[in-house]
Amino acid sequence: MTQAFTTDVLIAGAGPAGLTLAIDLARRGVAFRLIDKAERPFQGSRGKGIQPRSLEVFEDLGVLAPMLATGGPYPPVRNYAPDGGFEETAIGEGATPSPAEPYAAPLMLPQFLTETILRQRLADLGHTPEYGAELTGIDQDAEGVIATLADGRTLRARWLVGADGGRSFVRHALDIGFPGKTMPGLAMVADTKLTGLSRDAWHVFGTRETAQVSFCPLAGTDLFQIQGHAPADGEAGLTIEGLNAVIRERTGHDDIVVHEVFWASVYGLNARLADRYRVGRVLLAGDAAHIHPPTGGQGLNTSIQDAYNLGWKLAAVLAGAPESLIDTYEAERRPIAAGVLGLSTDLLAKAMTKQGMKRGREARQLDLGYEGSTLSLDLGVEAKVAPGDRAPDAPCGGQRVFEVLAGPHWTLLGESPIAPRPGLVVADLTDTDGWFADAYGLPADGFVLVRPDGYIATVGQAADKAKVEAYLKQVGL
Ligand SMILES: Cc1cc2nc3c(=O)[nH]c(=O)nc-3n(C[C@H](O)[C@H](O)[C@H](O)COP(=O)(O)OP(=O)(O)OC[C@H]3O[C@@H](n4cnc5c(N)ncnc54)[C@H](O)[C@@H]3O)c2cc1C
Repeated sequence: MTQAFTTDVLIAGAGPAGLTLAIDLARRGVAFRLIDKAERPFQGSRGKGIQPRSLEVFEDLGVLAPMLATGGPYPPVRNYAPDGGFEETAIGEGATPSPAEPYAAPLMLPQFLTETILRQRLADLGHTPEYGAELTGIDQDAEGVIATLADGRTLRARWLVGADGGRSFVRHALDIGFPGKTMPGLAMVADTKLTGLSRDAWHVFGTRETAQVSFCPLAGTDLFQIQGHAPADGEAGLTIEGLNAVIRERTGHDDIVVHEVFWASVYGLNARLADRYRVGRVLLAGDAAHIHPPTGGQGLNTSIQDAYNLGWKLAAVLAGAPESLIDTYEAERRPIAAGVLGLSTDLLAKAMTKQGMKRGREARQLDLGYEGSTLSLDLGVEAKVAPGDRAPDAPCGGQRVFEVLAGPHWTLLGESPIAPRPGLVVADLTDTDGWFADAYGLPADGFVLVRPDGYIATVGQAADKAKVEAYLKQVGL
């Protein structure tokens, strides 16, 4: 292919995955283009739960403060019985923040507000998504990709990332299998203004066996997200009149009245996982690679964490690190998606029962890690953390570990035999209150190497210097 490179990375799809990847590449100074076939930003609430691990990722990306200021906690779920009585339960098991896990509970933030905050951060870094730009063709060779857009333009990029959602054009164009299952029936979601319900609870009427309808007050807005079995006439039933008829029928109330519908959709429940995340110079991320039922509140979270895993690897390879680093993306992220699919479908099955479902610790994604990855170097050093684990937070004097980790660099914490260099920060923190020892439990003269995405690469001691130097070379440092 003779065409000159337009950019280093072309990201197709400016949803949560594409925007997260764009922010990470922008702060690393990587040249990229972010395109989306939609004419304007998406305006629906869809993924409204940001799990604790994603909050940590968003802290690193510099968007947590506006998210916390805009969103809010989940209210209790109020299940109404046919006689009008009700029971209230929390959507997740209770959890309190700790020095090692500063964000214990998920934050409710409707997807369009999450995306708005991500776009604002991207704008601050000097970039904007290009809307009305649909990817319609892919051709690749050993050096890169030629992407054709619907308007006939061609773009040449060294890498293409398909973050183009569950119906991914990129996945289809590469003929990547997407096995899994489609559950029977259709569900609806609608963002509405309504009267007749308080905003202090997520109101649920009916059961899954009958016809359910639930009303969740969306934090950061004056809207309610209506969810439930789709109306008999599908999308056509998502008008004000159609929704009010469904509400009367399923709740027995005529005082719950929808006045405006901002966005509404009918969708099928799927659990599917792409056979591969990479073909040559093309990668899949987010819903393009895995789709889940919304019960677990996992889809958006898994999507942004795909992007967070991929960003630093793409940047390193573009800067000269061995290309094999890119293969660790699928090796690390595909098993995570497989596990999350299992969790979401289990919760869906529980939601169908009378007892209902409760999101447990696993839904918070704090225990996910990359043990067994080729990037997790086991030097046999005993500590409270192991290679592949998420690096915990710890207040150390006036500074938190997460503040030291924040940014695009690698970090060495503890008694480092290795000198800092571009891309590697070395910090020996003053453990005034013992929180660092509590979380990390390093031996005397021990250190821990933390990846740019906040996972432990290795735990070592002074004698391991040569092995760690060799490792750093492999990742481009
Ligand atoms: C009712 C409901 C509730 C949910 N609740 C939760 C929740 O609580 N927590 C959670 O984590 N997740 C939840 N999800 C899932 C979440 O919405 C998705 O996982 C998330 O949107 C995936 O992000 P993404 O960036 O991968 O894809 P998308 O958000 O689908 O973005 C893909 C983008 O690609 C663009 N695109 C498509 N084709 C092309 C093309 N050919 N060229 C260029 N651009 C293209 C699209 O226009 C779109 O903007 C829920 C979903 C639903 C339906």
